Amino acid sequence: MSDQHSEHTPYRGRFAPSPTGPLHFGSLITAVASYCEAKSNHGKWLVRIEDTDIPRIYPGSETHILQCLEAFEFEIDEQILFQKDRLDIYNDVLEQLHQKHAIYACQCTRKMLGSNAIYQGTCKNLHLDFEHQAIRVKVNEDPITFIDILQGEQTANLATELGDFVLKRRDGIINYQLAVVVDDYLQGITHVVRGADLLDNTARQIWLGKLLDYPQLRYLHLPLAMNDQGQKLSKQNLAQALDPSNASKLLQQAFSALQQPDVALDRPSNMLKQAVQQWQIHRVPQTTMLSGTYF
Ligand code: GLU
Repeated sequence: MSDQHSEHTPYRGRFAPSPTGPLHFGSLITAVASYCEAKSNHGKWLVRIEDTDIPRIYPGSETHILQCLEAFEFEIDEQILFQKDRLDIYNDVLEQLHQKHAIYACQCTRKMLGSNAIYQGTCKNLHLDFEHQAIRVKVNEDPITFIDILQGEQTANLATELGDFVLKRRDGIINYQLAVVVDDYLQGITHVVRGADLLDNTARQIWLGKLLDYPQLRYLHLPLAMNDQGQKLSKQNLAQALDPSNASKLLQQAFSALQQPDVALDRPSNMLKQAVQQWQIHRVPQTTMLSGTYF
């Protein structure tokens, strides 16, 4: 088992949107909180565009993300990284996992799997060729436990809750779980701050990190902004796109949703500077949902 990053490892955080739709207020909450956590810990804040799932890319959303980052005047510490340029890296890591006998090819179709949410390991001992098949990673029965900085102790059992999970799809698309773990490691990320909708993905990512001997990260899952029908804001339920020309107002709303002290309207860079100075993570509600209604 690999060690956690030590207290003394300099803080490196990131914001990692997928261009599957324009950024919305929920994305802004994640961007602002990960930014303020990183900068108030004298750390670096990196941006990574998670665009491996080509069929799900929404035209124009990558441009919108970049426009927003500029309009909100976030200070990004290193060059923005695009996952679609890094497929060779992920495939090399798959090869490392293959050497460790940690993965196998799976020919099960969605139809064959039916409504079974837990993969039964049907192809585990078939030793199928890797070409044109999905690739799954083996899991075991040991519970995975971690302390989320905001949500507290979390435990999951991958074998009983999920089964061996997919790292690469039959169509060759690298799964988010693999790409995120590899890039967090290669970018030297120490802290992951993101929405609570990804809380139940974390055990999978910790498992992969362990298999690859990567240091364990610290996690902080933020409460989600909801719409007036009690659904989380998402691209799927058509959350309103962030308006880059309204950055200062939107920042003010984001600080308020995160229950931070008020910041007077000003140009975004000044507002962010003030928000970092007065940032108090313990004021963020320790729930998985924010109580206000957002669009
Ligand atoms: N790309 C993911 C998303 O947009 C976030 C990944 C992460 O922060 O780990 O939902």
